[in-house]
Amino acid sequence: MENPSKARKKIPKQLESLLLYNAAKTCCVCRVPRAPVEIHHIDENPANNIEDNLVVICKNCHEEAHTKRPLSKSLTAGRLIDFKIRWQDEVKNRSANAMLPSSNLDQAMWTYINHQRLPVLMKAFDVKFDAGLLYFLAKRKVVDRNGIPIFQLECKDRDNSLTTIYERFEWDDSQRLHDLYMDAVDKLIQKTHPIELGAIWTKTEIKTILKPGSICFCMRGFHFRGGERKNGEEDRFVYARAKNIEVQLLANTRHMYGNSALYTNFAGSRFAAILMIIKEVVNEEGVLVVRATPLAMGAGFIPSEYETPHKLRYGWAV
Ligand SMILES: [Zn+2]
Repeated sequence: MENPSKARKKIPKQLESLLLYNAAKTCCVCRVPRAPVEIHHIDENPANNIEDNLVVICKNCHEEAHTKRPLSKSLTAGRLIDFKIRWQDEVKNRSANAMLPSSNLDQAMWTYINHQRLPVLMKAFDVKFDAGLLYFLAKRKVVDRNGIPIFQLECKDRDNSLTTIYERFEWDDSQRLHDLYMDAVDKLIQKTHPIELGAIWTKTEIKTILKPGSICFCMRGFHFRGGERKNGEEDRFVYARAKNIEVQLLANTRHMYGNSALYTNFAGSRFAAILMIIKEVVNEEGVLVVRATPLAMGAGFIPSEYETPHKLRYGWAV
């Protein structure tokens, strides 16, 4: 069907993975869920494999794209580009919105927030704290003008138990501080459109799509293993493995909000939603290891309320 004078060139694997991910493996024209998709060359030159010339469509729409009709009815290059851009934007926004606790259940909440890394990333992506709350907390000297916490109380010295940064403030201030940061995590997600790790859970796709510095989201069962306890805190080793792919993180307990986070939600083997920034992706004895730093971890999410447009490749199992 394509121009026979131009030789077909294979689309590079990396570009193909990216196109399919960006379209949530769904036809951008009819958007029929689960219809098998193909990649169409918009200019009908099968050797022109630049990203702008490629669009993910289903078999029906692909045939339609190669059928000549009166201009008003045909899938012209211009219309295809329009469909592609609109669908990619919708996938990005719907995917990010699905990651927010408010899109899941009432009890879903970020109960670990990395107070060190988050402000740095917010600056890099021009994400702002809620102005009113920041002003209020800065006036009370709970945070500085950049939202960095300023401890108000001495760290309680209680044998070998865990303490968090929230215990360094009066109760209502610590709650407001948590509100400030929960809102900031949501804003960072909406601004950066994190990669849905479950949608690219194959070695090839992870290797081609994830880069150091990529921001990702992953909701599934994780194992949480406590490390050495020092000065009221410990680095908790967090990991999940499926299909010879393993995600590994270290989450310090000082960033956890409340006793259920410390002793229940992020202990043992639990279901969790984790926002992370990738450090490295390496092959170790046949296992593809994804090492990342957690930015936020949430509890109270459930899979059946998770309305991501992506097709997820792993089970939810712990
Ligand atoms: Zn279609």
